[in-house]
Order: sequence, then C-alpha cells, then structure tokens
Amino acid sequence: MNISIIGTGYVGLVTGTCFAEVGHQVVCVDCDAGKIELLKAGGIPIYEPGLKELVEKNTAEGRLRFTTSTREGVEASDIIFIAVPTPPLPDGSVDLSFIEGVARDIASAMTGYKIVVDKSTVPVKTGQKVAETIQRYCKAKVECDVVSNPEFLREGFAVEDFMRPDRVVIGVTSERPVKAIQEVFAPYNAPVIVTDIHSAELIKHAANSFLALKISYINAISLVCEATGANVQEVANGIGMDARIGRRFLDAGLGFGGSCFPKDLSAFIKISEQLGYDFRLLREVQRINAEQMERFLKKIADTLWVLKEKRIGVLGLAFKQNTDDVRNSPAIDLCHRLLKEGAVLRVHDPKAMEKAKAVLKEATFVADMNAVADGCDALVVATEWPEFKKLDLEHARKVMTHPILFDGRNLFDAREMERHGWIYKSVGR
Ligand code: NAD
Repeated sequence: MNISIIGTGYVGLVTGTCFAEVGHQVVCVDCDAGKIELLKAGGIPIYEPGLKELVEKNTAEGRLRFTTSTREGVEASDIIFIAVPTPPLPDGSVDLSFIEGVARDIASAMTGYKIVVDKSTVPVKTGQKVAETIQRYCKAKVECDVVSNPEFLREGFAVEDFMRPDRVVIGVTSERPVKAIQEVFAPYNAPVIVTDIHSAELIKHAANSFLALKISYINAISLVCEATGANVQEVANGIGMDARIGRRFLDAGLGFGGSCFPKDLSAFIKISEQLGYDFRLLREVQRINAEQMERFLKKIADTLWVLKEKRIGVLGLAFKQNTDDVRNSPAIDLCHRLLKEGAVLRVHDPKAMEKAKAVLKEATFVADMNAVADGCDALVVATEWPEFKKLDLEHARKVMTHPILFDGRNLFDAREMERHGWIYKSVGR
C-alpha cells in the first residue's frame, strides 16, 4: 500500500519504518527541516534499538523516503497517518492545534478519496472534528474516511512492539476503510479489533491511565513496605504471578514520567471532567506519583543533611531505560531539585546525554559511568538502565568521600550493598 506519515518523531518514524519493512511504500513527512535533512543524509534523530538499521535498509531498498512537504506525502499515498504531538495545555487538557493544522494541510492537498488515520493520542471525539475540518478545508470536495488507530508502542522497545503488537485497534465510522486498514496491518499477524471511532480513541487514554495506576499502586504499596520492613519486590513478585494481575508495571521507584503517561493522565481527567465525571481515582494516581519523588528527595536530604555544595553523582537521565528521551523525565526533575538545593551534580546516561544537555545546564556530564563517583558524597540511580548493575562498586567506594547510594529504581541487592559497606537506600525495601 502507499502510505504517508505526517510527523516523523518517536511514533511516526517507527511507524513509517516498520510499514516499509513489511513491504509498504512509505513517505515520512515532518515540518522540522533539520530532522528531514538528517534522515535524508542517513542520520537518525532518536535512539531506538534496531531502528537505525531498519531505516537504512528500507531507504536503500526504495520503500522509505522523507520530505518536509505534506502535499507530497498526501499525493503519493492512499492512506495518511497522523503522528504529530498532542502536548498538554497548562490546565491539563490537550493542545490539538498540531492535529488541526495537519487536518487542514491534508485537506488542501487532497484531490481524491483518502483514508486519514489518527495515530496521535487524542481526546475522544477528536476524529469527528478532524473529519469536519477536512471537509471544510478541502477545496476539491472529495471524500475521505477518518479512522482512529491508537499507538501502544513503548519507547526503548518501539520496533519490537510495532512488529509484534499485542493488538491493533481500528476505530471507524463506516465499513468503507476497514479492508484497506486491515491490509496495512495484515503482515504483522496481530489480533485486530475493529471498534467505533469513539471507543478506539478512549481505549488509548483508558490503557495508559490503567498502566499509570498500576505504577502508583505499587508505589503506594512500597510505602507500606517501608513502614513494616516488608520488601516491595517480593510483594510485586507474589501478586504479579497471579495471571489476573501480571508482574509488569509493578516496579516501585521514582514514579512514572515521559512524554505520555503524565499528559495522558491529565488529559483523561480533564476529558472526564468535561463530560461531568470527577475521576478522583486518577487524581489520586497523580498525587501518589508526585509524592513518590518528594519522599525520595527527603531520603537524600535526611541522609546527607545539608545539600548545598554536596557532590552527587546521578546515574540515568532518560525517563526510562533503552531510550534517549528526556521529556518529562523523573531523573531530570530530580536533578533540577538537587541543583535548586545547591548540590553539585556529576551525571551520566548511556544514551540520553546529548538530549539532557539541552535541559540540564548546570551539571557536569561524565562520559564513563565509572568516573561519575569521583569525589562524590553520594550516588543516585535515577533510571533503570541494566548496565548500571555492572557499575564498579569497589572503585566507586574508593573514590567517593563516603559510600552512599540512593537507588531510585531498586537495581541493586540491598543486603549485598550493605555487606560491602555501603549506606544503601532504595524504595520499599
Ligand atoms: P514527537 O514529538 O517525537 O514527534 C512528533 C513530530 O511531529 C515532530 O518531529 C514534529 O516536528 C512533527 N510535527 C509537528 N507538527 C507537524 C506538522 N504540522 N506537520 C508535519 N510534522 C509535524 O512525538 P511522539 O512521541 O512521536 O508522539 C506523537 C503522538 O503519538 C502523540 O500524540 C503521543 O501522545 C503519541 N504516542 C507517543 C508514544 C511514545 O512513546 N512517544 C506512544 C504512543 C503514542
């Protein structure tokens, strides 16, 4: 099939590349000329395992190309996917101006029937507005179907998730576009759920809110564990082995962040409010998440006392492992809070150093994770990168003023750390 993707970011680039990988002809469009130039020159604007190789392969084999022109994308395709940002507004509701802008651009370039698929995460009923906008701004007065196809990929595992999705959700207002969209996804052999368009839009917000709820639930349990001497990891294993619950998203820590959960949660709360329902359960999820960071900072302050001029090494800047994305990262938030107290930071991340430099000006970036500890009063693990488990703890102990480690992601074994002379504080253990 001939497909274009409008918005070539984390979702758009992965989507376009994985469509090309199964044989579709794809044009990826982005208004960021620098990003398109980089992609055309063989570079890649984000880190995502396996993506660079697939972009190179599919570009070389002529199934994937890049442009800044939405018109070119629309003209070259039968199906147009929208993957532009839907950031939060100050009141928590969704800024839909990117979606509206793209709908207008598509409308003005359309000269024949098209299927327009929204992949961005949007409030329920956005599809209806997109359809109305296209109708209003399409001078050629040609027909189009608007479809909702929410994306569930996880950054850090995006290619894997896209190639082997748990399910594909297709929300429609009529039967007309269903066959073509099913054909697009047929090569992935995934279960496909066809729903009405409102349900498809709601599925995404309901799914992300539930996952955030699971994280806040285990973080609340971590509090009870700390108060009783129980171990939150043992509890998570014990409840997670129940197939009705599942082990995933039951890791206590600094709380969730990133470009999706916080914004999708506030959007869903706002949408519910506008529909006359006060979603108190989700407001509590937000509250627990915010408090988790406060409690962790208190642990640091209680141990180090005055933070002013304390040298602290921070391991991890990305919002989670396997990505270079620092948008709304709890690790960056933590750094800013420590800097505000006057601490001096030495920081490291395996992939997110470049992106973090743009938002974290006052820290010293250290290329080698084993050099972070030099002269530090304490170390903090802020992202669950598995390579941090290989930190040379013996060396760190020697070069620090005192061996103190605050483990915000429960990466290390508490007993082992104490046995080796560390003052070790983690979450819920
Ligand atoms: P992103 O910021 O990485 O990418 C969006 C891209 O759209 C940017 O490159 C931007 O330059 C481009 N863009 C903006 N306006 C445009 C326009 N008018 N024309 C062409 N390009 C334009 O964002 P993302 O993380 O890929 O998220 C996109 C959407 O997907 C959001 O709604 C998000 O909530 C949703 N989503 C994200 C993830 C994730 O893990 N990142 C997962 C599922 C869903």
